[in-house]
Amino acid sequence: MSQNSVFEMALEQLNDAARRLNLDASTLRVLSHPERELTVACPVVMDDGRIEVFTGHRVQHSSARGPCKGGIRFHQNVDIDEVRALAMWMTWKCAVVNIPYGGAKGGVQVDVTQLTPNEIRRLTRRFTVGIMPIIGPHSDIPAPDVNTNAETMGWIMDTVSMFQGSTVLDIVTGKSIDLGGSLGRREATGRGVMFNTLELLKRKKINPKKTTVAVQGFGNVGSVSADLLTKEGCRVLAVSDVSGAYYCEAGLPIADMIVYCTTSRNHLLEGFSAPGVSKISNDELLELDVDVLVPAALEKQITIANADRIKADFIVEGANGPTTPEAERLLTQKGKIVVPDILANSGGVVVSYFEWVQSIQSFFWDEDEVNSNLKRVMVNSFKAVWDVHESHGIDMRNAAMLIAVGRVAQAIKQRGIFP
Ligand code: GLU
Repeated sequence: MSQNSVFEMALEQLNDAARRLNLDASTLRVLSHPERELTVACPVVMDDGRIEVFTGHRVQHSSARGPCKGGIRFHQNVDIDEVRALAMWMTWKCAVVNIPYGGAKGGVQVDVTQLTPNEIRRLTRRFTVGIMPIIGPHSDIPAPDVNTNAETMGWIMDTVSMFQGSTVLDIVTGKSIDLGGSLGRREATGRGVMFNTLELLKRKKINPKKTTVAVQGFGNVGSVSADLLTKEGCRVLAVSDVSGAYYCEAGLPIADMIVYCTTSRNHLLEGFSAPGVSKISNDELLELDVDVLVPAALEKQITIANADRIKADFIVEGANGPTTPEAERLLTQKGKIVVPDILANSGGVVVSYFEWVQSIQSFFWDEDEVNSNLKRVMVNSFKAVWDVHESHGIDMRNAAMLIAVGRVAQAIKQRGIFP
């Protein structure tokens, strides 16, 4: 396996599940190939008048269970291999929580810290036009991911609407509330991480109030996870972002840190200080002696190079693909439990589904309805995965994949291969 290929990693997970499911070779072959990939060049007039060209991708992995669904990320490390992997993971994610979607992902290779807000807006609109031939409310619905947010989704919605000649609410999810977004969508991924953590602690008969947590990443997923786990009584000892990691033995003042990031440069924790808070390295954060580690940043953070030093008993994957298969085998051998990304961070796409339903109906739910429906889906999905984990004696990723791949394979079988 090539060291850098995230898609190879996703394929390895699929092959593992296929073996356990006794999946036939034909279906495995179908699932191993993304249905459609589009790469677009996005020329952007920069504020100083020069023209830069950014490369973007949209990959639709599977539409067997419904319209393709998945976020768009803006990051300097984006490439087709990564987007392919992320698209495949979306297919399994939607299947494991049983929402009627397939999987897709998009990304633009760009370091957003080097662009002004106007440049990011023009890039977003140009990328939207680039992928417009393949996205649509009933074919492929984008959403936020790393470095994109409700504002980005608003620009995508507006761009598509300008071409359509009327407002197309259901083309994206993760929109602002003013533009037909759903209450609770912004917090949904972190809320899902919190529900998954609580369900796991319940199974292990551990009191959340006696639980220590470290969270890698302080973006939309990491910050909300840390905040909601704190509100459940957990002690969050450390959080990090690209500016470094912050540690406090008594528990970090997460709410203050979130407020700090609303006005800080690039919304980073850089320069944050409070009594008892010290800086540690990202490696030290990952290797802290805590009960729960929530990697909520990027892929391949827990690898064979550091897996042996991970002390947390439970790893709840807020990010997509933070643990390599090799590292996960080692963690599992040591008795640690990894709640896999496709379950742990599925809260976002679940509420995206609720948002899409609300957009189609132009009828909006109150926040309690969103959150209680999210809780129901998370608790039931966790239970289904946990039961397979226990009854089959396999780790939670394989259990989740057994359910997810099984569902997608069923859909393919029932639809048949066209023509
Ligand atoms: N980007 C998020 C994820 O990785 C959300 C996707 C969506 O809501 O479509 O799950």
